[in-house]
Amino acid sequence: MEILLVPHPILRQKAKKLNSVTAEDIKTANLMMKSMIKAPGVGLAANQVGILKQIVTINFEDKENNKKSNYILFNPKIIKYSQETVVMEEGCLSLPEQYADVERPKDIVLEYIDENNKTIKKQIDGYEARILQHEIDHLSGKLFVDYLSSLKRNMLIKKVKKIQNIKK
Ligand SMILES: [Zn+2]
Repeated sequence: MEILLVPHPILRQKAKKLNSVTAEDIKTANLMMKSMIKAPGVGLAANQVGILKQIVTINFEDKENNKKSNYILFNPKIIKYSQETVVMEEGCLSLPEQYADVERPKDIVLEYIDENNKTIKKQIDGYEARILQHEIDHLSGKLFVDYLSSLKRNMLIKKVKKIQNIKK
């Protein structure tokens, strides 16, 4: 799967909710997982590979807490945000080599459907909460640069265009 870069219009569109998880959706998610690991990235939303379905893949290692997470989420939805916020540096596979500090809620309560069509609800904090907020934003056409000033946002997008032109 090819990962789309800004300013591709699909990155700005809303992904559709699935009625139920089908074998085809699982196949799509597995291909996304492969592309994400190869990139390498810690999270990927279906919009980023040109598919407007609410699918997210996650793969990260929290060395501090010795925790490895590798899972697929269908129809993920954040149902609660903590009042407390934290600033963390973010990057995105659709904006290669660009990073910026973004302030977001520290903890979230998340609800999603897994491969077995089972609804999962869990509280998530730390780095994982950060990745999930970033990926779930993608599903509604939102990018991390939207949290920055328009000046900074345009600068980062321009840099991505420049890198693409060099690679062509
Ligand atoms: Zn991203």
